[in-house]
Amino acid sequence: MPKEICSSHDNPQHLKKIPFSPPFLAPDVLNEIASVLSSGWITTGAKARELEAGVGNITQAQRVLCVNSATAGMELVLRWFGVKPGDEVIVPAYTYCATANIVLHCGATPVMVDVCADTLTMDMQAAAKKITARTKAIIPVDLGGLPCDYAHLQTIVEEKKSLFKAESAPQSALGRILILSDAAHSLGAIYRGTPAVLHTDISVYSFHAVKNLTTAEGGAIALHLPSNLAADSVYEQLRILGLHGQSKDAFTKFNTAAWEYDVEDAGFKYNMSDILAAVGVAGLRHYDAVLADRQQTVATYCRLLAPYPQFQLPVTHTEEKTSAYHLFLLRIQQGGRAERDRLIQALFEKGIATNVHYKPLPMLSLYKKLGYTAAEYPISCTAFEREITLPLFYGMTESDCEYIVSELVNNYAM
Ligand SMILES: *Cc1c(COP(=O)(O)O)cnc(C)c1O
Repeated sequence: MPKEICSSHDNPQHLKKIPFSPPFLAPDVLNEIASVLSSGWITTGAKARELEAGVGNITQAQRVLCVNSATAGMELVLRWFGVKPGDEVIVPAYTYCATANIVLHCGATPVMVDVCADTLTMDMQAAAKKITARTKAIIPVDLGGLPCDYAHLQTIVEEKKSLFKAESAPQSALGRILILSDAAHSLGAIYRGTPAVLHTDISVYSFHAVKNLTTAEGGAIALHLPSNLAADSVYEQLRILGLHGQSKDAFTKFNTAAWEYDVEDAGFKYNMSDILAAVGVAGLRHYDAVLADRQQTVATYCRLLAPYPQFQLPVTHTEEKTSAYHLFLLRIQQGGRAERDRLIQALFEKGIATNVHYKPLPMLSLYKKLGYTAAEYPISCTAFEREITLPLFYGMTESDCEYIVSELVNNYAM
């Protein structure tokens, strides 16, 4: 019998089992899926468009395109923008590998920068120093759901405008570095009173199983472009490039007798099926409640942990920013990596699943081999050694938080 399902008399400690981040599946999700299955159209069609409209409502983005993952969505944007070998794209060192891997896919160079010690989001001052004539895009990450310093980033990109060399039609139209936010964590986050996407050019959300809103696998590209890059037209360009470069998609052909189409580019296959979109449409109806519940859990954690200065609490809102409360990134003050790992093991033995976000990119073999060195990103490295992400999901109770905090306090040796 696996350890996880021992009966309580085998091991009374396991009476309480707290998963890390089980998916939120809406009560009406099966009806939503059934309606797609019985409609006769199961891949990209009306349901994907419905999810796009719903995400558009939350984000106030000009247009939203659903794709089969955030990774695919971000790569699609870089390809559309014309990022190619020889180009540079600035990313934080403290993120999931997807943020930088997509730059490699395009044959370009990820240029890493360190993060701010308090929020663990991209240090914009450091980013400014890395901008060269080859820089085509900057991909800040709304870590844990907290928006980056977008006003600062916009100023920097504007100041460096004269360095920018446009080499594609979208680059000429934008006339500067693209601000492409990795918003995998931050659907619903607010910056200076409005949705965070309105402070970027393009934000890409993830609907992976562990994210705040899920379609099992999926993502969405949200556009907020200046007027000389018409969002409707960019939406069409992205949609076509994400579907083999085919001028007419299957749904359009299905609805008319005009079967003929052309292929203008060797496009990709990144569309979202209506079956998965249905999971998202059902989830989105409850998204306000999900965000409120997550916020409540974060507030409970912060209240319970406040008396214990041996733990550093994450920044989840400031005067300018409100998080989407995706991750609770706790840091221990002393003991470093060995103590952090020991604590994770001790919590696991008490039935509490935790995680670490993130092992900085330069510590991963791929990036080591490419010549990146962790020592150049000291804040990321120190944060990693001290970081332990606590469970956070819809429906967590106050008593779950009390149990986790008491086990944290009891098991932390420092
Ligand atoms: C989950 C995640 C991604 C990738 O999302 P997918 O939808 O799985 O492609 C990218 N960046 C960050 C920061 C993530 O957490």
